[in-house]
Amino acid sequence: MTDQQTTLEILDALIGFPSISRDSNLDIVSWIESYLARHDVRSQRIADRTGAKASILATIGPSDRAGIVLSAHTDVVPVDGQDWSSPPFTATRRDNRIVGRGATDMKGFIAGVLAHAPHFKAAATQTPVHIALSYDEEVGCLGAPDLVDVVASLPTKPALCIVGEPTGLNAVYAHKGKVARRIIVTGRGGHSALPHRAANAVTAAARLVNNISDLADTTSNSDVRDEAFDPPYTTIHVGSLHGGTALNLVPDRAVIEFEIRDIPGTDVASLLAQIDRFIDEQRNDLKRQASEADIIVENISSYPSLMIAQNDAAVATVARLADSKHPAGTVSFGTEAGLYAKAGIPTVVCGPGDIGRAHKADEWIGIDELAQADAMMKRLAAHLNQPAEQWIKA
Ligand SMILES: [Zn+2]
Repeated sequence: MTDQQTTLEILDALIGFPSISRDSNLDIVSWIESYLARHDVRSQRIADRTGAKASILATIGPSDRAGIVLSAHTDVVPVDGQDWSSPPFTATRRDNRIVGRGATDMKGFIAGVLAHAPHFKAAATQTPVHIALSYDEEVGCLGAPDLVDVVASLPTKPALCIVGEPTGLNAVYAHKGKVARRIIVTGRGGHSALPHRAANAVTAAARLVNNISDLADTTSNSDVRDEAFDPPYTTIHVGSLHGGTALNLVPDRAVIEFEIRDIPGTDVASLLAQIDRFIDEQRNDLKRQASEADIIVENISSYPSLMIAQNDAAVATVARLADSKHPAGTVSFGTEAGLYAKAGIPTVVCGPGDIGRAHKADEWIGIDELAQADAMMKRLAAHLNQPAEQWIKA
């Protein structure tokens, strides 16, 4: 059987699992575990607190040597309200494409990696391969931190990590980070004719939105700029403001959601501290009107930015493995790469497919793109009989 057939069969199986982030991913995890076990590859589960979701880590080759991490997420985004022309959780071949949820983001990459596990097994005498598959990436990289902790504390720290998000197999050395938060404002309700006895949560929330958008303006003009990003500065964005039910009632509750997308080098903590000071001001004002009033902040999700030197050995090595058609660049979307990089593992994003097709109806990956990913895995396998420090170089 050729590798391409194996890859397609695995992709077919993977797409068949509706591993939407909100649901358990244990079915796809079990399938991958038994596939690996059939090829004599042992893996471990890193489960979440509920036991309903898990990451997988499999090491192929000598664990006492510096290896290479192949990283991906098993979860996919929902298909609700999307107009698919074939069942989203059935891999459907149409012309030279495989259509199905997750085809490009990022089960195509996982299929290529798994298809080559037997080859890695045969070849990895000097450089081990760690297959690291997370859950809940699509809802803010919630599953990866525990997995990254385990990877970073392997007996020998990996020399390189490739996050196979769709980049058209170009090497990506940087992306922005993100912090998403929810602000819940509680005032005191009342009749609109008697606002002096109430505390208006919507007014307080509106002032906060104003403060945050002023901070966004200041930040967009700060010195921390990098023309490699679009836009070349850190953005702060308010995505929603909900509050109030009727004109004749003073609203007692309002909820704001905002995010910061930071370019590497931004002092995100100080931006968040600034927003906390705005919140303190509004909380104090509200409490003067109603002692029970309060403002609380919840974390929705966050992941760090990725930035390694464009001429780093890791970037050059991945570009060679992938036979990249374009020079290394940046992407506008976030990935788990920043988490691996923060743990001290040189990390590059590079995978088959196009992020422009992700999350949409009729998501697809080209058969040719899968073939290029297969070729990348073959090139990788060919290096595994040498120690990592000999072949990971500029
Ligand atoms: Zn993805």
